[in-house]
Amino acid sequence: MSDRELYCDTCEGVQPFEMPPCADGHGADCPELLCTGCGTAVLIATFAFQPTRLADRRRRPSAGRHAA
Ligand SMILES: [Zn+2]
Ligand SMILES: [Zn+2]
Repeated sequence: MSDRELYCDTCEGVQPFEMPPCADGHGADCPELLCTGCGTAVLIATFAFQPTRLADRRRRPSAGRHAA
């Protein structure tokens, strides 16, 4: 658990935020943080976030080559 302090619009002040249990498979790279004061979820963009799951689903290797 790594807490970090961010400004919360709902609390109108700086609150400690914590990483919620991630249901999307981000693991330690989950960009979501929960305000411990009001429970509002925010997205942090302090690191490059790559939606690898989406990319994996859409990518089709050798899609243009159809060997009969
Ligand atoms: Zn996540
Ligand atoms: Zn808050």
